[in-house]
Amino acid sequence: MSVELKGLCLKCPNCGATLEVAPDLNQFSCGYCGSEQVVLRRGGTVALSLIGDAITKVQVGTDKTAAELAIKRLRDDLTKEAVQCQNLISMAKIKNSSMDVWSPRVPFFIGFGLFFILFSNKNSSFGIVIGIIFIAIGIWIASAWRSQLNEYAKEASKITEAYKARCASISKEIDEKLNLVKSS
Ligand SMILES: [Zn+2]
Repeated sequence: MSVELKGLCLKCPNCGATLEVAPDLNQFSCGYCGSEQVVLRRGGTVALSLIGDAITKVQVGTDKTAAELAIKRLRDDLTKEAVQCQNLISMAKIKNSSMDVWSPRVPFFIGFGLFFILFSNKNSSFGIVIGIIFIAIGIWIASAWRSQLNEYAKEASKITEAYKARCASISKEIDEKLNLVKSS
């Protein structure tokens, strides 16, 4: 006695031919057009889907998920870049800070210098020499401080430019991924 498995009759999504699908069959090719079919059984319903379609859908889903993950990662990168930029600027500030302690003393050096020149014994050049030395030290500190400030400003702007360039390229990548997510 032979057991006949009574299958379902479904239409081929490719050529429209009626196909009898055995209950234990998950994948087959259409006897009329030869297209590869996958049997989708969900919640009591059975449908046929062309394998090409199924693969394309999975592919699109994967691409979309990958794009969404990439967007999240790229946004994290933007945050990291901002923190990194702040750190580099802070480091540049620390590196260019040796004159910060001395710069507020410039007026005292120049003041002392002037005091020695104006109020020391007029018959001795000692006060004038000391005064000139004090003023010279004051001027040297001021100019060293100024070039240090310039150096810091230059480094900070270089860091900022590099940061902006990286952010622009990351933002561009995010836009590309967003378009990919929208179009799929
Ligand atoms: Zn067919």
